[in-house]
Amino acid sequence: MLDQTPATITERSALKVNPAKTCQPVGAMYAALGVHGCLPHSHGSQGCCAYHRSHLTRHFKEPVMASTSSFTEGSSVFGGMANLQQAFQTMFALYDPEIVAVHTTCLSETIGDDIPTIIAKSRDEGKIPEGKVVVHANTPSYVGSHVTGFSSMVAGFVKYLAASTGTRSNAVNLVPGWVEPADMVELKRYTAAFALPTIMLPDTSSVLDAPATGTHAFYPKGGTTIAQIRAMGDARHTLALGAWASTAAAEQLRKQCQVPFEVLDLPIGLAATDRFVSALASLSGTAVPQAIEDERGRLVDVINDMHQYLAGKSVAIWGDQDQVIALTEFCRDMDMKPVHVMTGGHGQAFEERVKALLADSVPDANIRQQGDLMLMHQWIKNRPVDVMIGTTYGKFISRAEDTPLVRFGWPILDRVGHSYFASVGYTGGLRLATQLITAIQERQDRDAPDHALELVM
Ligand code: SF4
Repeated sequence: MLDQTPATITERSALKVNPAKTCQPVGAMYAALGVHGCLPHSHGSQGCCAYHRSHLTRHFKEPVMASTSSFTEGSSVFGGMANLQQAFQTMFALYDPEIVAVHTTCLSETIGDDIPTIIAKSRDEGKIPEGKVVVHANTPSYVGSHVTGFSSMVAGFVKYLAASTGTRSNAVNLVPGWVEPADMVELKRYTAAFALPTIMLPDTSSVLDAPATGTHAFYPKGGTTIAQIRAMGDARHTLALGAWASTAAAEQLRKQCQVPFEVLDLPIGLAATDRFVSALASLSGTAVPQAIEDERGRLVDVINDMHQYLAGKSVAIWGDQDQVIALTEFCRDMDMKPVHVMTGGHGQAFEERVKALLADSVPDANIRQQGDLMLMHQWIKNRPVDVMIGTTYGKFISRAEDTPLVRFGWPILDRVGHSYFASVGYTGGLRLATQLITAIQERQDRDAPDHALELVM
C-alpha cells in the first residue's frame, strides 16, 4: 500500500494516513502496569481494551492483563456507571488487585462519565473493599496520543496517592518517561551507582520483561508499590525525564507536596546522558563513579572509531516527542544529518526544539509535529535518506524505498530485544550507535561490487 504513496505533497489538514502514534489508553495501560499489584481498567467498550492489550502484548511479547467496563448500547445511552460498579465488584472478587487504575476511552469521555464520583459512590456502597485503592485518569483518544495517556496516568497515581507528612526524606523521585523495562533497570543502576535513594514511578521492569519461572503470576513481582508512591510526597526532589511524558507528574508533585523538580531530556545518547549524570552527581553530592566514566569513554571511543561510517549520513527519525528529540541530538552529535524529523504527537515546542538542535547542521530539515507516515514517506521520496530510525510501521517505507530501518520506539511488533536491552545511558547509546553503524555497513556490503567487498571494515 505504501508503495503507492505519491511523491507530490498535498496539504492535508483533516486527514491522517498511517499516524505515527496510538491512542491515549494504551499509554495509560502501560503506566498502570508499572505499579505493583495494579489491574488497569478500561472504562469503555471491549474492543478498545482488546486492542490496547494486544498492542502491548505484541510489543513486549508478554501477556498483558486488563479489565473492561464492557459497554453495550445501553451504557452508551445511559452512561457507564452501572458497568463500572459491577466491574469493581468482579475485579476485587476474582482478581484481588491491590490497586485498580481506571482510564477512560473515547466513548465514556463523549458520554461524560464522572469517574471520581463513581469511585466515591462505589466506595460508599462497599463495592470497593476496605484497604483497596482505585485511581483514574481521563484519556480521551480524540486528543493527544499514547504519550498523553501515559503522562496523565502517572500524574493520576501521584494525585491520588502522594502525600506529604511534613518531614522531608532523602529520597529523589524519578519519573522515567516512556522507556522500555530494560531502560528502567538501567536508570535504577545509575541512581544506585550514585547511592541516591530513589523512587521511580512507573517501573515496568520485572513486569513486562518478567522471566519464565514455570508459574503464572497474575501480578508479577515488579512495579512501584503503593507505599512508595505515597512516599514520593516527602521526597526532596523530582527528576522528570522527557518533557511530554513526565512533566505532568512532576508538576503534580510540586503542586500537591511542594517537591521541587527539574525536567531533563530522556538520557538517550551522549549529551543527554551527560546531563542526566550531571544531575545525579549534583543531587548526590558525589563525583561520577569510575565505572560510569568508563562506559562513557567506550561510547566516545566507538563514535570516534566509526566516524567515517556515520559522518554525513542522512537519517529520517519519527516516534514519540521525547524519544525523537533525544535521538535527533544523538545523531547530530555523531555528525549524521537528521533531514526528516517527525512525531505523531502534538506540541509546537517539539518543532522549535528540533529546529534549534539542527539550526547549524541541517537548517533545511523537515520537522513536523502531529505528522503521519504518509508524509514521512513523501519526504523520503523527495529527499532520500541513508537510514531511518522509527517504529515497525516504517518497514513498508523501508521496503518501498530500499532504505535500512533501525527499529526504535513504540511500537516494535516484528522484532525482539527492545524490551531487554537498554537504549538509555552510555551503554544504551553504544547499542544504538552500533545498530546504526551495522545498518549502514550491511547496506555498504550489499551494494559493493565483488572487487570492493571488504573483509575488514
Ligand atoms: S481511539 Fe478511542 S475508540 Fe478507538 S481504540 Fe482508542 S479509545 Fe477506543
